[in-house]
Amino acid sequence: MPPEAVTRFAPSPTGPLHLGHAYAAMVAAERAGAGRFLLRIEDIDQSRCRPQWEAQIYHDLEWLGLRWEVPVMRQSARGSAYRAGLDQLAALGLLYPCCCTRADIRAALSAPQEGAPLGPDGLTYPGTCRMRPMSEAGPNDALRLNMGAALAHVGALEFIENGPIHPGRHALDRDWLRDVAGDVVLARRDMGTSYHLSVVLDDAAQDITEVTRGADLFDATPIHVLLQALLQLPTPSYYHHTLIRDDTGKRLAKRDDARAIARYREEGLRPEALRQRLTLSAGT
Ligand code: GLU
Repeated sequence: MPPEAVTRFAPSPTGPLHLGHAYAAMVAAERAGAGRFLLRIEDIDQSRCRPQWEAQIYHDLEWLGLRWEVPVMRQSARGSAYRAGLDQLAALGLLYPCCCTRADIRAALSAPQEGAPLGPDGLTYPGTCRMRPMSEAGPNDALRLNMGAALAHVGALEFIENGPIHPGRHALDRDWLRDVAGDVVLARRDMGTSYHLSVVLDDAAQDITEVTRGADLFDATPIHVLLQALLQLPTPSYYHHTLIRDDTGKRLAKRDDARAIARYREEGLRPEALRQRLTLSAGT
């Protein structure tokens, strides 16, 4: 990586950091090289985030030997940036309010067609509310991106993947975005934003040059690259790392507290030993 590389680790403080997080943080710091390694607290879901978990994130990362710049960006302080991003997309006529529940979506998708497509956010939205104008948006509505209209706004797009699993240049598959990813939610009713919107705006605000994260988020990347183009933001390169597996080869669950870094620390494991173990179990 060039010396000016800027990378980030972006955990959500919804529980203890586990081995998978430790590996993600290590990869981000390593990819920064002589550049900048930033931390971002992804706490938009205030119903699940707790200050004690945020405090433990700092503690665990320090114990692992990582250092980052302060102040740390926290998503809970970025509401106005998210609203500005939504306003920009709404001005382009690309958003619409949606009051469908998950059950509504399932019902709309059941028969006649079988095997409804499954995008990165779950079942592909069938478009029930697509014709609703933004002037109707109320407190019980989420805001969705009209994917067809969004694609008509941009030309061919691509991103560069530097990670071990899908290395190379990836042209965005417009059919997949329209038919599988579909009209993704950009503002959830309960939080006024979404993972996709926040991550795109925050990476740009932090001048991230390479996004490092787990391979489970590879499929979300085309959505992010499209949003960057719509919001006239630069597209960073990406590095999706392999996911840590347990001794039987099973992917570690995000919320497997038995694998919490704090447990290893309490058991007296040295941080160097944990780092070495992670490097070994991450083999592609
Ligand atoms: N906050 C996300 C997580 O904890 C990471 C998102 C990202 O790196 O883009 O899985």
